[in-house]
Amino acid sequence: MTINVNKVNVMRISSFSAFGLLLSFGMPFLLMGYGSTELVAQERPNIVFFFSDDLTTQAISAYRYGLELPPTPNIDRLAKEGMLFENSFCGNSICTPSRCTVMTGLHSHKNGIVNLSGALDPQRPTWPKALQKGGYSTAIFGKWHMKTKPTGFDEWAVLSGQGSYYNPDFFFSNGEGRRIEGHSTDVVTDLALDWLGRRDKSKPFALMVQHKAPHRNWKPSLRELELYGDIEFPEPPSLFDDYEGRVAAASHKMGIDGHMRMGSDLMLFSTEKDMGVINRFTPEQRKAYVAAFEKENAAFLADPPTGKELVRWKYQRYMKNYLRCVAGVDRNVGRVLAELDKAGLSKNTIVVYCADQGFYLGEHGWFDKRWAYEESLKMPLIVRWPGKVAPGTRCAAMVQNIDYVPTILEAAGLSTNWDVHGISLVPLLSQGGATPNGWRDTIYYRYMDGGHGVAQHSAIRTNDFKLLYFDRPRNEAEEKSRWELFDLKNDPQELNNLAADTIHAQKLKSMQARFQTTREFYDDTNENVWQRGAGKRYPPESYIRPPRKR
Ligand code: CA
Repeated sequence: MTINVNKVNVMRISSFSAFGLLLSFGMPFLLMGYGSTELVAQERPNIVFFFSDDLTTQAISAYRYGLELPPTPNIDRLAKEGMLFENSFCGNSICTPSRCTVMTGLHSHKNGIVNLSGALDPQRPTWPKALQKGGYSTAIFGKWHMKTKPTGFDEWAVLSGQGSYYNPDFFFSNGEGRRIEGHSTDVVTDLALDWLGRRDKSKPFALMVQHKAPHRNWKPSLRELELYGDIEFPEPPSLFDDYEGRVAAASHKMGIDGHMRMGSDLMLFSTEKDMGVINRFTPEQRKAYVAAFEKENAAFLADPPTGKELVRWKYQRYMKNYLRCVAGVDRNVGRVLAELDKAGLSKNTIVVYCADQGFYLGEHGWFDKRWAYEESLKMPLIVRWPGKVAPGTRCAAMVQNIDYVPTILEAAGLSTNWDVHGISLVPLLSQGGATPNGWRDTIYYRYMDGGHGVAQHSAIRTNDFKLLYFDRPRNEAEEKSRWELFDLKNDPQELNNLAADTIHAQKLKSMQARFQTTREFYDDTNENVWQRGAGKRYPPESYIRPPRKR
């Protein structure tokens, strides 16, 4: 069932020189993790793990690429004091599967969650469980989204499923369920800080602070609701993408133009039904929301734009609310960092900032994620680790969400005692971000959910090229266009599919061979695994909320 790292690597030596290199250089890193001396409790670093939902790299100013967008000073502080990973990727760009990979160190086809319907197996080893067993005090607050109750935590309070932005319902480890008034980003931080103050101080701790923001439908807190009122954000060059040469992309259902809802997504309150999106609000919250959008909404309704002008209007409204949600996350990251400073904990605490995947901010005309194109394939990853990571460093090596388990466990002086796909990032962190010789030169991707009209596909990415393969074409046109090849250096926006270009025939062939070898390397050859939908069921008491009957 689970992959055997040793066996797979040995097999690769003869069949794929690149992975042979990974073995010769990568394995010592793993062995270092397995064999490192157990550190005494007092010396072991604490871990604060910030995890946001759909918070994309383009929205973080420390990433400094893409459009000029507002600053995120607190997340940037982590980059200034730590290391920013420029090429950090997920393996399946959607919430539940990416979260499961972060927890288990395994790609979707080996971790039990292949799509949004999956639930985390309560018996499966995860890094919080390993830390708890290894003497850490562990807690998680906020969005979990893996259906079964969190295990491996001394204490938890999580939202059920997506949860609500306003006045969210929390489910607590003591069995309690309670609605807490306020905005979810603020409330999650309140819960985390409360626990931090009363934790078991005889142990090192791992605290996961997991925000719902900035997931759709974007509802900023009242604190950020007035931000960016007069700002007109620059449009991405591909806002009006025609998808030429990319057959599957043209069949999307995630366009700002056609699929973003005026009421529930954009707060254009023109009917009573539109107001449903703020039903949970208190009268005061409701009043503030109506007032914040009233003037702009009235202007829109008096003279509604059409065509491209309507898309532009929607883009601006979308960006404002998305980035207001991001500003709320950033402000709350600042609250936690300030508390770590105040409590004298910053020096011996590793702070990780990341999100479950990237997101489109109008690129290709889209919102949402799912695709193996850069914006949604990338995951922000910033690590501050005083004494170990040089401040203000950036790492260009390709890293992936499979790497979190071995990294965190090595950092905590613990062994990874189950097989994982990932490699510890500690050598990258401790060596100024330099890419070690023989580091992986290919990452693997596979998305098999069906939402938003996104065709099921797989991909590999190297430092310079990307190859997409559409696993299950839905029509004749897609059947004829199953491959997409992009030159990332010369076409970073991925607009020119070179798969049918005769000049690139050799490149296509070599990338196809690499794709096949990579798929075999990760042992993703049992198609039944991807067919099983919701996957395994667990005893009813394992769930945060009992699952619906099938
Ligand atoms: Ca997500």
